[in-house]
Amino acid sequence: MNMITNHMPTAELQALDAAHHMHPFTSGTELAAKGARVITRASGVTLTDSEGNEMLDAMAGLWCVNLGYGRDELAEAAARQMKELPYYNTFFQTTHVPAIALSSKLAELTPHDLNNVFFAGSGSEANDTNIRLVRTYWAEKGQPEKKIIISRKNAYHGSSVGSASLGGMQPMHAHGGLPIEDIHHIDEPNWYAQGGDMSPAEFGLERARQLEAAIEEYGAHRVAAFIGEPIQGAGGVIIPPETYWPEIQRICDKHNILLIADEVITGFGRTGKWFGCETLGIRPHIMTIAKGLSSGYAPIGGSLLCDEVAQVMNDCDFAHGYTYSGHPVACAVALENLRILQEEKIVDRAGSEVAPYLKEKWDTLNDHPLVGETALCGLMGSLALSPDPSSRAMFAADKGTAGLICREHCFANGLVMRHVGDRMVISPPLVITHAEIDTLVERARKALDLTHAELKDKGLM
Ligand code: PMP
Repeated sequence: MNMITNHMPTAELQALDAAHHMHPFTSGTELAAKGARVITRASGVTLTDSEGNEMLDAMAGLWCVNLGYGRDELAEAAARQMKELPYYNTFFQTTHVPAIALSSKLAELTPHDLNNVFFAGSGSEANDTNIRLVRTYWAEKGQPEKKIIISRKNAYHGSSVGSASLGGMQPMHAHGGLPIEDIHHIDEPNWYAQGGDMSPAEFGLERARQLEAAIEEYGAHRVAAFIGEPIQGAGGVIIPPETYWPEIQRICDKHNILLIADEVITGFGRTGKWFGCETLGIRPHIMTIAKGLSSGYAPIGGSLLCDEVAQVMNDCDFAHGYTYSGHPVACAVALENLRILQEEKIVDRAGSEVAPYLKEKWDTLNDHPLVGETALCGLMGSLALSPDPSSRAMFAADKGTAGLICREHCFANGLVMRHVGDRMVISPPLVITHAEIDTLVERARKALDLTHAELKDKGLM
């Protein structure tokens, strides 16, 4: 076979891709008919495809390239580490400098006493760690029956058997017979779609109190933990009412339930502070991290544990770990990423300058006849598409037809926005400039106009 390179004609690359490459969350048959978009290069917030088209990546890949594309320092950190020590494990009483340095750095950056990290290769793996960890923690404390984990419908916590069980997406549960035992889901704090006549504040309390009702139903002596994304990401950037998290925290504290904040998306500056739990005022016992930890330049994730939980786990021989737990190259890349985010004040500026400007511009889309709501926290945001914005109406069965049409118009107009049902979501690199924000919002408006026209043409609104 000839060498496969960026210089091959797109159609040939697409044919080989369709023949051999199985894509996540994709119908292979549909994709083969259409041909995958082949991304060849990226710099800053801009992607280039094999046809030379440029697109503004308002999703930072999959919510991960917080630092933006093309930072040579990270490539150099990886190359240096590969030459010095490309691999060694952290099992069996062994360590190496990149893992020591990254765990120390994380202890410095994370709030309160989340001083202890168990590394994984991804967010899914880290959440699998959390399932075994919280159950082991309670067993070590003499309460082996404290095993139930409560999560939320429409949560996303990963794709492995354990993490997809924590997640609350029905179509994911349908594949593979999930959830595993002793994982239960309460309703999500999605006021726009489900709040009815309640005020956001009332609704936030009602949804949080479902946790208390579930704990009372199963018995606190059986409930190990509650897990939630501070802001649901893959569920559509659902920003909970302000009353929600304080009530969840109160309930966890009162009933002695561990609180796990899944910060895979909300970590590392995404909400305008280093961690979403700082923005939303949460004090978790355990925090899941991945994505922005390395800005996606290397696969790495982890579970951060507060001192008390770590102490108990350190006293037991936890039979758990991944070949790539604390992979030295991934750790070196993550460290360099964190150095730049901190030294160049990228996280600080994301909160103080970029997020306020993005909010001002994003909210201008509120007047569009297709937009029922604009939501934004830091640099993660969403638009609810609606056939009648004045009444928070949803498109029939919220099947995502409008969202899909809008996403395609975005692509065709040089913008990567994702759709979750009929919500459009953004999560751009934190380094996005004001001029690039202007472009993002202009292209979004154009895509909305085209979507509006197409929906009318098709009699869908
Ligand atoms: N948790 C959350 C909140 C996520 O958004 C994701 C990924 N989108 C994951 C966990 C899973 O991470 P990964 O894809 O790295 O396994």
